[in-house]
Amino acid sequence: NHNLYAALRAAFPADLDATAVETVGGATAGLRYSWRDLDRASAMIANLLDSLKLPPASRIAVQVEKSVEALILYLAVLRSGHVFLPLNTAYQAGEIEYFVGNAEPAVVVCNPANFGWVSKIAFHAGTRHVFTLGDDRSGTLLERASHQRDTHTVARSAADDLGVIIYTSGTTGRSKGAMLSHGNMLSNARTLQAYWGWRADDVLIHALPIFHVHGLFVAIHGALINGSPMLWLNKFEPRATIELFPRATVFMGVPTLYTRMLAEPALTPAQAAHMRLFVSGSAPLLIETFNEWRERTGHTILERYGMSETIMLTSNPYAEDERYPGQTERRGATVGFPLPGVSLRVVDDAGRPVETGEIGGIQVRGPNVFSGYWRMPEKTAEEFTTDGYFKTGDVGKVDERGYVSIVGRSKDLIISGGYNVYPAEIEGALNEMPGVAESAVVGVPHPDFGEVGVAVVIARPGATPDPEALIGALKARLANFKIPKRCFVVPELPRNTMGKVQKNLLRDRYKGLFT
Ligand code: ATP
Ligand code: MG
Repeated sequence: NHNLYAALRAAFPADLDATAVETVGGATAGLRYSWRDLDRASAMIANLLDSLKLPPASRIAVQVEKSVEALILYLAVLRSGHVFLPLNTAYQAGEIEYFVGNAEPAVVVCNPANFGWVSKIAFHAGTRHVFTLGDDRSGTLLERASHQRDTHTVARSAADDLGVIIYTSGTTGRSKGAMLSHGNMLSNARTLQAYWGWRADDVLIHALPIFHVHGLFVAIHGALINGSPMLWLNKFEPRATIELFPRATVFMGVPTLYTRMLAEPALTPAQAAHMRLFVSGSAPLLIETFNEWRERTGHTILERYGMSETIMLTSNPYAEDERYPGQTERRGATVGFPLPGVSLRVVDDAGRPVETGEIGGIQVRGPNVFSGYWRMPEKTAEEFTTDGYFKTGDVGKVDERGYVSIVGRSKDLIISGGYNVYPAEIEGALNEMPGVAESAVVGVPHPDFGEVGVAVVIARPGATPDPEALIGALKARLANFKIPKRCFVVPELPRNTMGKVQKNLLRDRYKGLFT
């Protein structure tokens, strides 16, 4: 049986009464869930789903606050052979209408407080079952499941049976539903387990949302496939997270979680001494954050790269990788090597591989790569090459040592007077200037050049960098065609819930500057 739950269940430790999840903070702080609890509670919910007599591979759409019960619901959907469809908790009625209309779920599970409007949308779209689940164990899902038996036979699944539809973050446009199979998820989980050297005594701090690849797959699958317990925060809180370091070994975060922890005086080498591994991803980690983290904790963050469509693709080395002998360094501003089993190539606009060190579009193939976008056959066909590579939409390069770095997204590339301008290069130069904390460079229409760059800068606390002076300083460092024509110092960059800068909003804001 290739059902992912069967593999996760097989990895549970022999002592099923040991703690699998312990909650920290929030409405249900201090609860312990044993491995037996996870198995029994997911069996009860799976039996409830079975009792609904849904067609095989029905979509179960879930928009609930993070909780251990939401994790158990995920496991239940897997073991029942249906398709889990997590939705960002920030989505409002218009967005939910799109997702529910697009996915046509048989079951929708929502926050008790949202039942009114969510159920209206769901019933309108033909969904017959709407349950509620709160982050305090409230709601109809658990009530109904409590009448079910606590044993359940895991549904039989083939490796390429659909397990999850995960909508992309919508950073570049409308979210697309990436269809991931049980085999995609299991192969990636096993690869990361080996690559990151998961140990028998590991304990993961889980502080990420679980509607996204990072929190759901990399973190949860990572712990469960290794039989490792999780210290579980429904909401990330920098102080509370740092306080957990002496009891844990692994932490995974998006870059903003790291910058928020760096602002805490409690972050010291002694506090972090028990930790084994800090992983960052989902958005570029600034080299400043990477360096500062090393100074403040003695640990080198391991940056990795992936996406909804592929789960994880590349990783900095944790230990010696036999394919790259002697190169055990975790290098900042890179995302490391393609994971074992992943083929990665960098190609030019005509699809031809570029020379080592040259910039181009990143294409990938491997057992982790999705089968296509839900109900978007044309989009799917466009994004795969004839030899089966997926076009990631990211632009990057591979250096002579084999390290991959991401320089941006192809949609963010600026073509100015016929020249390609890579925003990441200019942002890197700006970030090094005094008074600059962070920056984003976007292209806007220009009558002469087609497009020109506009720099948007966040000042360091207390600093007031002068936009003209920043542009002047850039001119001393970079070719003229790369220099942004305007620079703005603003209080903050627009970000989505995964901490990704929404450059499309910046482009919109400044699109009329020159036209
Ligand atoms: P959409 O596809 O809807 O525009 P999205 O690409 O942000 O949204 P996700 O699948 O959640 O949706 O994110 C994957 C993207 O995140 C990658 O394609 C890449 O651009 C970015 N990313 C992930 N990890 C890293 C990293 N370590 N460094 C730089 N970028 C990263
Ligand atoms: Mg994407």
